[in-house]
Amino acid sequence: MKFVYDFTEGNKDLKDLLGGKGANLAEMTNLGLPVPPGFTITTEACKVYLESGREPVALRDEVSAHLDTLERGMGKKLGQADNPLLVSVRSGAKFSMPGMMDTVLNIGLSDSSVEGLARQAGNERFAWDSYRRLIQMFGKTVLGVEGDLFEDALDEAKEAKGVAVDTALDADDLKRLVARFKEIVRTEAGRDFPQDPREQMDLAIKAVFDSWNTDRAKLYRRQERIPGDLGTAVNVCSMVFGNLGDDSGTGVAFTRDPASGHQGVYGDYLQNAQGEDVVAGIRNTVPLAELESIDKTSYDQLMDIMETLENHYRDLCDIEFTIERGKLWMLQTRVGKRTAGAAFRIATQLVDQGLIDEAEALQRVTGAQLAQLMFPRFDTDAKAEQAGKGIAASPGAAVGRAVFSSKAAVEWAARGEKVILVRRETNPDDLDGMIAAEGILTSRGGKTSHAAVVARGMGKTCVCGAEELEVDVKARKMTVPGGGVVAEGDVISIDGSSGKVYLGEVPVVPSPVVEYFEGKADPAAADADELVKAVDRIMTFADGERRLKVRANADNAEDAARARRFGAQGIGLCRTEHMFLGDRRELVERLILAEDKQEQEDALAQLLPLQKVDFVELFEAMDGLPVTVRLIDPPLHEFLPDLTELSVKVAVAEAKGEDVSDSQRLLHCVQRLHEQNPMLGLRGVRLGLVIPGLFIMQVRAIAEAAAERRAAGGDPRAEIMIPLVGTVQELEIVREEAEQVIREVQETSGAELGITIGTMIELPRAAVTAGQIAEAAEFFSFGTNDLTQTTWGFSRDDVEASFFSQYLEKGIFGVSPFETIDRDGVGELVRLGVERGRATRPDIKLGVCGEHGGDPDSVHFFHEVGLDYVSCSPFRIPVARLEAGRAAT
Ligand code: PEP
Ligand code: MG
Repeated sequence: MKFVYDFTEGNKDLKDLLGGKGANLAEMTNLGLPVPPGFTITTEACKVYLESGREPVALRDEVSAHLDTLERGMGKKLGQADNPLLVSVRSGAKFSMPGMMDTVLNIGLSDSSVEGLARQAGNERFAWDSYRRLIQMFGKTVLGVEGDLFEDALDEAKEAKGVAVDTALDADDLKRLVARFKEIVRTEAGRDFPQDPREQMDLAIKAVFDSWNTDRAKLYRRQERIPGDLGTAVNVCSMVFGNLGDDSGTGVAFTRDPASGHQGVYGDYLQNAQGEDVVAGIRNTVPLAELESIDKTSYDQLMDIMETLENHYRDLCDIEFTIERGKLWMLQTRVGKRTAGAAFRIATQLVDQGLIDEAEALQRVTGAQLAQLMFPRFDTDAKAEQAGKGIAASPGAAVGRAVFSSKAAVEWAARGEKVILVRRETNPDDLDGMIAAEGILTSRGGKTSHAAVVARGMGKTCVCGAEELEVDVKARKMTVPGGGVVAEGDVISIDGSSGKVYLGEVPVVPSPVVEYFEGKADPAAADADELVKAVDRIMTFADGERRLKVRANADNAEDAARARRFGAQGIGLCRTEHMFLGDRRELVERLILAEDKQEQEDALAQLLPLQKVDFVELFEAMDGLPVTVRLIDPPLHEFLPDLTELSVKVAVAEAKGEDVSDSQRLLHCVQRLHEQNPMLGLRGVRLGLVIPGLFIMQVRAIAEAAAERRAAGGDPRAEIMIPLVGTVQELEIVREEAEQVIREVQETSGAELGITIGTMIELPRAAVTAGQIAEAAEFFSFGTNDLTQTTWGFSRDDVEASFFSQYLEKGIFGVSPFETIDRDGVGELVRLGVERGRATRPDIKLGVCGEHGGDPDSVHFFHEVGLDYVSCSPFRIPVARLEAGRAAT
């Protein structure tokens, strides 16, 4: 196996092997762009290292061979005293993990080669500054020395000299600093900073491998659902310097605005600076457009390259570049992260430019992004006290209490408080605080600062670089222009779409995208919002492509009407037990507790007209579209008085000498019906079979409502669904009774109602015996909530609040199986149910109505197994439509 690839050997499709950075460096090299020469050590080498604890045997020789080629090409040797070649050693995994893993620059500098570099560059200060950076980075990342020790020493040096910025330190100051840094390494790491350049390089490569498994990298991967066994590649690249004077510099750029999608010049440039200075937000950058006046030649070349890259990648790219004494070098490119709104706009813009087709456009957006766009925003008309304005880095409207450290964010959030993490700038150590916060506010750094990049990745609201806010992390407060102070715990509101920061809580309003789905914003209007236009077009593409139909889970006319506006093609689940809450609960209680037939019949007679009205309204709202009405499926305890409370009440009344005979009677009934595991108890079809007349009453209400709608000229399409069936016999009994009632209503009304009868598949036994069950069912709807509960043996009401966080932390699963379908377990049962059901009844209609029906990943799975439709809550319908379209392309 080959473990090392020269940049000239790879290409952008080799991300698994070369990591994103390595693959793209190779691609740029092959496009003839100015990339400093170098090579990439593969993720396979990293995997061997992670599995066995040592590098593959062949690696050393391969690295030597590639280094040799590099040295010959550059005409210098690594660390050579008079004319040193310096390299950077950078991590680069398949998926971008910004700032999560290690990088060491200036490898090859030593006490002797620093002099050579000084002569070569004609700049002693620069050489010593590069050397101190190497010792600092190497000390921290390779030798594990506390980074603050170097920072403190640097601060002391500046203080001693009475200067504020690093650049004011001269060569002699830096020589002293290097000596101090070496001392820190010796004391803290128990060894000298290595003078042998090859040893530096080998140790740095190993450190990059190790950085795959730091706690923060693991946490990031879990958050982003990146598999833990991919490993990282390592890029060894010859150094170019942006810190050689004012004709040098370094910058980052986007080929279009990652927040709005607009074409133009977007990026930040920092003169006379190296490497991570821009991303770290340490000094303030200038907008990229200013580079035109600083160095027109490089600027023009950069614009050309950006165009080349966009046309080549057919997408927004972000890039890192360095200018060394007027010569432009490309250090990185990749398809850039973007906000949800920009994703939709860019996808449609690229279609208009002819760069991609509609099917490709669908792959450029996600349901998660659409969901983000449906978040509410701040009410711009509301009176709000603006405290400052920063850069709109990641959209959304976040309100919460200001906290000034990640630790506080985590603690406050654990107490149930909503918090905004306020920092001068963030770094990878802030990750858990960022996860805990509703939003992130920083006073420094641009759109490409750590806070901005990571927040966008997480879909979290972020305002960065709000320079007028003075953040004092130590004192846990922030001073706003005019002198007002925000202390820890004070509520603030941040708007990630405008960059505005407000004191106190600002009311929020719905998003324009929701207004559009509601039919309140016309995408064809001349003044239509650009985002609304883009979303409308993408939804049209998706609807044109998708095979899956999308229905709604809705149990009242209002939800049904909204669902229809959002594009629902029917109701996939009407939970009739929801119709018995509130005032009607008492009637159900009476029915369940009835001691004789008469009492039961009375209760049913009272429920019938109420139910009928419910269904008339529902059929009217969904006229012409299928409405699956599920017969009552209550966990019994939800409809009965609480046993403990009732026992106490009876005991107290008894003690007072009151007449308790009625309560006693009730108590005995409740005791009789009390279940240890109500979710596995008298629910669903079991209840229907045990309480005579209950299902029949519902079937009559459905049939009569359908007949009434028919008589009124409507087109009701009722489907009756039986819950929690485990065996075909249960279904057969209910079916016979139901058919009898439907026949009666049809005879009386003289209308053929076309009502079908089917079942939910939500028990493993039902999935396994689906072939038999299909004999009595015209349709199946997979109830993946209960199917997950019963397949895993997880109580769906308890586990998420109890041990799931630990399961997620331990990586047992990356996401709750109640959220995203467990393909290997629950999913296989669905697949089995589909196959066996269709084998018996080829035209059986198949759907899903568990929570998974609106989950992006799960929608793809349901498409793959060949369901006819998914059903989900009204607000998730657009997401399901989009994902169904994406799944089909
Ligand atoms: C299910 O179990 O997936 C389902 C849709 O039914 P409920 O959530 O009402 O139990
Ligand atoms: Mg269920």
